[in-house]
Amino acid sequence: MNKTNNIRVRIAPSPTGFFHIGTARTALFNWLFARKHGGAFIVRIEDTDRERSKAEFEVDITESLEWLGLVPDEFYRQSERTEIYKKYLEKLLKERKAFYCAHSIEELEQESERQKKAGQVPCHLCDDRDARITEGIIRFKNNETDAIIIGDLIRGEIRFDPRLIGDFALARNLEEPLYNFANTVDDREMDMSHVIRGEDHISNTPKQILVGRALGFTQPRWTHVPLLLGSDRSKLSKRHGALAVREYRAQGYLPEAMLNFVALLGWHPPAGKRGEREREVFSRDELIELFSLERIQKAGAIAEMQKLDWFNREYLKKLSDKEFIDRAAPFISSPEGKRVPKELLPIFKKRITRLSDVDQEIRSIINLSDYEAGVLLKGDREGAHVCMIIDTILNILSRIDPQKFSGVTAREALDPLVKKEGIGSVLWPLRASLSGKEVSIGPFELVDILEKDEVVRRLIVARNKL
Ligand code: GLU
Repeated sequence: MNKTNNIRVRIAPSPTGFFHIGTARTALFNWLFARKHGGAFIVRIEDTDRERSKAEFEVDITESLEWLGLVPDEFYRQSERTEIYKKYLEKLLKERKAFYCAHSIEELEQESERQKKAGQVPCHLCDDRDARITEGIIRFKNNETDAIIIGDLIRGEIRFDPRLIGDFALARNLEEPLYNFANTVDDREMDMSHVIRGEDHISNTPKQILVGRALGFTQPRWTHVPLLLGSDRSKLSKRHGALAVREYRAQGYLPEAMLNFVALLGWHPPAGKRGEREREVFSRDELIELFSLERIQKAGAIAEMQKLDWFNREYLKKLSDKEFIDRAAPFISSPEGKRVPKELLPIFKKRITRLSDVDQEIRSIINLSDYEAGVLLKGDREGAHVCMIIDTILNILSRIDPQKFSGVTAREALDPLVKKEGIGSVLWPLRASLSGKEVSIGPFELVDILEKDEVVRRLIVARNKL
């Protein structure tokens, strides 16, 4: 543990792409660990690669984190810390633990090709490490021969042969540090107690350990979380569906559903009381309470995106009507959708997967598509009888004052007919006439959405089909 004995963890995304599900999971695990132990969750934008780093990606990272409610306690940007890295680079150069390398890119490429052909792991072994050159790439002088051992909290001991790492690059020059160097300096400068990150970084860890040792740093506790896999067990990629969190947000997935979904990618809470074993829906507070690094699995974690749909439906059902309206309203974009009073939106709460589906549902109701007469005849009902019922419904509903026309007044007016003929005999033809579908929202919900003239028109169309 570090000198203050406090838990301090971070995510260190590079703003070279949109914030994706894997980063969301790493962020969540770090955030949960910090919250559980009263520690700090830090976000550090690793934008030392000036060409590939883009402001729009940084904005996407911060907005996505905010959307998920993973708000950092501290925020840093590496591009603003050049002086700090420079100081440490100068120290390493002065102590001859780093050196300027005179090899050209072509020479390095040739070396790497040669090594690959010989079946070796490509790494640069510099032959003029002591030359008094003062420009070129700054490299780490790797004299280590003893195995480097990572004590990983999830994977246990991982051993690396330092000779396979070579004299790796630390910086393009004093002003342009590279990933492994800046990352190591910052983890110490920012007093990280743990580094919790994706397993794809394991090969960087021995380099960071060597840099840390050369600078006399204490090491953080290393924790590498398993890779995310698609349903076919290959590394999760675009092929398996959208990966950018913003795409899910834009379709109307709820942040709480997304959090719950990613929490269970490679982590599981301890089995609860009997009957709780299968439980999957956990609130943010429950996740904080149950979370521990030890329960992160070693094996790759399969991300089934359909499971996110399931979580979203579960969380949508839990929303109060008011909350649902507040969340769904921004997703209503069509002219048809905008005509529907907002108070009616909860009609769709239990029927949709994403908030954007509401607009689609409304459009499919308002733009009635043609349908077969059979839709009107439920089970063994005779056409003539259904025709008579629709006529009676028409008669009754036509008498309601258009100003007062609603699901409630229609239900009241039709009550005697329902009592006489039976619920199904009246409500099926009414619902089928208004929706043109075998499955839809309820008849009086449809009445609420459609204006009186339209209801009457659809009942006439239905009757004429029989
Ligand atoms: N900048 C690295 C990345 O984007 C961060 C790695 C780390 O967490 O140490 O993957």
